[in-house]
Amino acid sequence: MNRIDIKVSFKCNNHCKFCVQGDKRDFCPDKSDQEIKEILKKSRKAFGEVVFTGGELTLRPNIIGLVSFAKGLGYKVQLQTNGRMFVYKDFCRDIIKAGADMFAVSIHGHNARLHDYLTGARGSFQQSSAGIKNILSLGKMVVTNTVINQKNYRFLPEIADFLIDLGVPQYQFAYPHILGNALKNISFIVPRKKEIMPYVKKGLKIGIARGRIVRTEAIPYCLLGKYRDCIAEQHIPETKVFDVKINEDFSRWRKEEGKLKGPNCKKCRYFKCCEGPWREYPEIFGWNEFKPIK
Ligand code: SF4
Repeated sequence: MNRIDIKVSFKCNNHCKFCVQGDKRDFCPDKSDQEIKEILKKSRKAFGEVVFTGGELTLRPNIIGLVSFAKGLGYKVQLQTNGRMFVYKDFCRDIIKAGADMFAVSIHGHNARLHDYLTGARGSFQQSSAGIKNILSLGKMVVTNTVINQKNYRFLPEIADFLIDLGVPQYQFAYPHILGNALKNISFIVPRKKEIMPYVKKGLKIGIARGRIVRTEAIPYCLLGKYRDCIAEQHIPETKVFDVKINEDFSRWRKEEGKLKGPNCKKCRYFKCCEGPWREYPEIFGWNEFKPIK
């Protein structure tokens, strides 16, 4: 099912050290309710799903009204959130009642020390993990996203165990896109891919063994070994994104402009289906880690 992705607020109560949105919160005004409703109405014929995202969508005063409006038009509604507001069970109930079907929650550590350091927000770990529990207790699907970075990659297996114990049915490890805060903090936040891979694989193995769906993002086939089926890009539907500007076909943009393949990639058996890494990675670190699979 094709979907639209609407950045409903650039504000955020976290300050993630790898946030790709960077300082948009300081410079980019949020769309009005009316603008969002117009997008929803105009897009409904061609799209069946809407993802509300940000920034942090729960900071938007009328988010429950917007979810209800989207549901009324017949959309399947996904919310991409840092999960903190869901610590309040009444808020959870209200937004689910309004029509939220599925929740994608960011979680970057297995304890408060790590997660709160990465989000720059004390208390965020306690709120986000309690939020996940609340959503799950109300019978809704939660998938989590963990951005891999220099501070957490050695703990990916522990993060996997933590998420499974929390009851999360699907989790994803995403390599950071080196833009925004990730670019600003590159020296202490962005790890080399070859260093993270043993930990990524261990974290995936734990989830598979315990019956979870596990995914990776922005990690090409040649680095994943037997975990190639976990590549999330194989499963992401075509998406039109309403950011500051409109991206008509994000999947095509990702393949043709956002990501890049290297000088040896043509020799690789995955050349056609592989998207390659985000282009910033080889532009900064080179192509040595990407070895074609014959
Ligand atoms: S096409 Fe290039 S980046 Fe993709 S798996 Fe093959 S060698 Fe790796």
